[in-house]
Amino acid sequence: NTFAEIDLGDALNENIRRCKYVKPTPVQRYAIPISLMGRDLMACAQTGSGKTAAFCFPIISGIMRGPPAQRQRGSRTAYPHALILSPTRELSIQIHEEARKFAYQTGVRVVVAYGGAPINQQVWISNRVETFVVKELRDLERGVDILVATPGRLVDLLERARVSLQHIRYLALDEADRMLDMGFEPQIRRIVEQMDMPPCGQRQTMLFSATFPKEIQRLASDFLYNYIFLAV
Ligand code: AMP
Repeated sequence: NTFAEIDLGDALNENIRRCKYVKPTPVQRYAIPISLMGRDLMACAQTGSGKTAAFCFPIISGIMRGPPAQRQRGSRTAYPHALILSPTRELSIQIHEEARKFAYQTGVRVVVAYGGAPINQQVWISNRVETFVVKELRDLERGVDILVATPGRLVDLLERARVSLQHIRYLALDEADRMLDMGFEPQIRRIVEQMDMPPCGQRQTMLFSATFPKEIQRLASDFLYNYIFLAV
């Protein structure tokens, strides 16, 4: 009934205390132990349910227990261990801010990449665009464990070989129904195809959606392995 009872590790538990989270929300109470067991998960969760922590805690905990992300000297390609896909720039920024608080002093690096501005060409046109664009690439070059991204931007980064998904061990799809409504299905499929396909248990996947139309069920059967369905 408390986070202290869940085996997330001392550093993460300390950060949870700092965030003043005492009791897990219903989605957290069930999703976190399922993920820590290594099972794939499809969860019905609305905004405000605490779903961000529900997928961030097991990812951060798992990364802390695993090997550090690879950074090859001279290579501009980042090899994150976890990918969180979200439909909008606003939601990506929000997830990134929360994930950074949860990952504070754990050594786990979180980077956000979202669309809305070109990556290279217009760097010099406006000061604001310049800072934001260059920072995203600089952050990636420094090394990243958890990448939070919108699908369109990630496809762009993959095409530029700025990111490789070969080392992904955790994949979270947030607000999957909204991503499909926005027409991101082709991008999402291109992204997931760069990981192990069909899923065979190497990668752990969590799919969060407020609704479960046929299209979402199809994504779940294509991307998830032996998954648990959670509706709270
Ligand atoms: P989310 O559904 O992830 O957008 O979270 C909604 C809000 O609830 C955010 O402001 C979180 O910081 C907060 N929150 C999430 N989990 C908990 C918890 N266990 N205790 C208190 N607040 C929480």
